[in-house]
Amino acid sequence: MTEPEHDTIFGMILREEIPADIVYEDESCMAFRDINPQADVHVLVIPRTPIRSLAHATRDQEVLLGHLLSVCAAVAVQEGISDSGYRVVTNIGRDGGQSVEHLHFHVLGGRSLGWPPG
Ligand code: 5GP
Repeated sequence: MTEPEHDTIFGMILREEIPADIVYEDESCMAFRDINPQADVHVLVIPRTPIRSLAHATRDQEVLLGHLLSVCAAVAVQEGISDSGYRVVTNIGRDGGQSVEHLHFHVLGGRSLGWPPG
């Protein structure tokens, strides 16, 4: 399915039109600190291409999806939470609590996280 072009606040961060505390970037993704952190470490990992959510990713983006998860794990090491443990979450749609329609993985850690989520 071909998605029409769309833009979000994350598109503005990718184009450096608004600032972000970037902790990692490469040719296909960027990781930056969440503006409203829910844990001591709260980083968002996003693809440069504006996929609306995991539900909108296509089979030809499987390599990119794997890379994003690999970057989540690398960010956790960089942030010093790999040994203590952390959570990687992606919210999808209304019931998932997604507020920005640009695929992003939350990397959360630095405290004991509750389960199940609310
Ligand atoms: P969602 O609710 O879609 O899963 O997550 C979106 C996340 O983006 C939220 O945790 C929110 O705090 C974060 N966010 C929204 N706007 C900005 C922004 O302008 N800068 C940064 N760094 N994070 C943002």
